[in-house]
Amino acid sequence: MSTRPAPVAASIGRSPTVALLDEVQRQKARGVDVLNLSGGEPDFATPEHVVRPAVEALQAGFTHYTPSRGLPELREAIAAKLHADNGIVADPGTDVIVTPSAKHAMFIALAGVIAPGDEVLVPSPAWVSYAPMVTLLGGRPVDVPLDPRDNFTITAEQLSEAVTPRTRAILVNTPNNPTGRMLTASEADAIARVADRHDLTVLADEIYEYIRYDGRSHRSLAAWPGCRDRTLTVNGFSKSYAMTGWRLGYVTGPAAVMREVVKVQEHTVGCASSFVQRGALGALTGESRACIDEMVASYDARRRFLVGALNKIPGISCADPEGAFYVLPDISGLGFGSAQECSAWLIEHAGVVVTPGSAFGPTAEQHVRLSFAAPLETLTATVERLAAVLDAGGAPRGTTALRADNLS
Ligand code: PMP
Ligand code: GLU
Repeated sequence: MSTRPAPVAASIGRSPTVALLDEVQRQKARGVDVLNLSGGEPDFATPEHVVRPAVEALQAGFTHYTPSRGLPELREAIAAKLHADNGIVADPGTDVIVTPSAKHAMFIALAGVIAPGDEVLVPSPAWVSYAPMVTLLGGRPVDVPLDPRDNFTITAEQLSEAVTPRTRAILVNTPNNPTGRMLTASEADAIARVADRHDLTVLADEIYEYIRYDGRSHRSLAAWPGCRDRTLTVNGFSKSYAMTGWRLGYVTGPAAVMREVVKVQEHTVGCASSFVQRGALGALTGESRACIDEMVASYDARRRFLVGALNKIPGISCADPEGAFYVLPDISGLGFGSAQECSAWLIEHAGVVVTPGSAFGPTAEQHVRLSFAAPLETLTATVERLAAVLDAGGAPRGTTALRADNLS
């Protein structure tokens, strides 16, 4: 007797971003000199005021289950933060669930709102895991391809055109991975109008909310008129506090939906790690802002350097990101057949790892994503290598993708 995988699991691909990160770790372990700008992973150490309470919790034996919604004091702190920073009124008793990662927060939020056959609008380019999550839950992700010539702007017309009687939700990410765009007031309005007209749930992924530039302010859809009662907000600690390996996030939304969402948490992971939640409490109640400000100032300097340097390379055109820590340059002038081909060629000829834009949707087929959550020296070396190999001419076309089986 053999074990066969379920068709739905077999139908989705690996996460291209996670696959690239795995591959880079394998290459580094073999001593290969790679410059990795693929993964969205802060290079900073987790701040001391987060580490300390977690270590103390471990040493004090705080190593057992917590309530499935999370520690009450952490939910209180999250509700206070949501109120102060986001204008969201959330009851910590009923409206907040602490999750092991923002990824899991999004998954249980989707599980709580979509039924098999339901369609979820995903404006793209979009983070790689949204569509597979919808598919795994029996839903249908509907790509809404945003126009790169229009700076990937979300319009009510485009959203409305994609709506069918089966549409149940719209999934929005601001600041955006991979475009670096932040939602404008008119885009938020467009989303609110379409959601209201068709009675859709809005899923707002705001994990990069603190990472933004040039004095821009963040707009939480759950506080936007017309979206208040229909929005589930996903957030987490990975990016703002350099806590990717801790795996901690949360989701907040109307009590009636959260009551169902928590059951998914209870039947899958039970609760987030107890001592990790103590660390997160330290993040929210300690000197949290200073450490974020320092990291963001550093990302900003890297952003300015990288955008300037990339735009000096003939064939590359790079917009200024407004938030998050990614650039998504247009590489159509380089003469590659596709973004996948470009990224495989760059690994092979420059030892530089970037994510092909096609991983994020069809409209980024002529783009690659570079993360600038990497030290300035790495960015400098990357740009030098890129300039050297691209200047050397080399025939980009027709190269064999290096370990392409691992990348997609
Ligand atoms: N949303 C977006 C847009 C992301 O880029 C990431 C990065 N992994 C996540 C959610 C998930 O974050 P985590 O699971 O590390 O909390
Ligand atoms: N979110 C990051 C990225 O987009 C980390 C990898 C992942 O979880 O997708 O690269």
